[in-house]
Amino acid sequence: MNVADDKTIVREYFNSTGFDRWRRIYGDGEVNKVQLDIRNGHQQTVDTVISWLKDDGNLPELSICDAGCGVGSLSIPLAADGAKIYASDISEKMVTEAKDRALATLGNVENTTFAVQDLESLSGSYNTVICLDVLIHYPQEKADEMISHLCSLAESRVIMSFAPKNCALTILKKIGSFFPGPSKATRAYLHREADVVKILESNGFTVQRQAMTKTRFYYSRLLEATRQ
Ligand code: SAM
Repeated sequence: MNVADDKTIVREYFNSTGFDRWRRIYGDGEVNKVQLDIRNGHQQTVDTVISWLKDDGNLPELSICDAGCGVGSLSIPLAADGAKIYASDISEKMVTEAKDRALATLGNVENTTFAVQDLESLSGSYNTVICLDVLIHYPQEKADEMISHLCSLAESRVIMSFAPKNCALTILKKIGSFFPGPSKATRAYLHREADVVKILESNGFTVQRQAMTKTRFYYSRLLEATRQ
């Protein structure tokens, strides 16, 4: 499968069965045990990012690009805390859902822009560029290009998460639960931390903070890297 296929499949997945599945996981309605575990794990990743940014004490001064924003799980709380948010996603359905949730939660979305856009075509300049749980959909070579592009948009910091390769065996055993049925065609790629760090460093960034979220069915390594 080539990279173009990966992207087309991912877009179609998140505009169809993937949308329904992940909208539920990233919501607060009833879900099965596996989905609940993934929901809780993902929330931990989101909470860690929010706590890092809040600890710095300057959220209202920051412009933040949330690349692959999904239903806005990160963008909406950051906007509520006053950050200027540019949220985008390759899936039109995800972006529509994110906008609806932002309106329902925030009442207004003045400091938030939502766009249907794949992250490769993002332009502009943001203090912080964040990309959570997106790289899992792409092989390392493509992930390298994506990370480099995200770095080029970041004035001072990138924050990204990925499924680490050292958990490969465990994840692969469980991966069927992530993409059940016909949508199993959507592959999950694992990345070596050393490869991610290398590409960050080659773009002039150094890792500052890191975290690992590990639940039964959810594994996500989170790195914050700043421009030197
Ligand atoms: N970042 C969100 C979060 O953590 O709540 C959503 C994570 S979800 C597992 C992956 C998201 O990445 C989906 O909404 C999908 O549509 C989006 N996505 C996948 N490939 C993308 C790309 N090339 N550019 C932008 N978004 C992409």
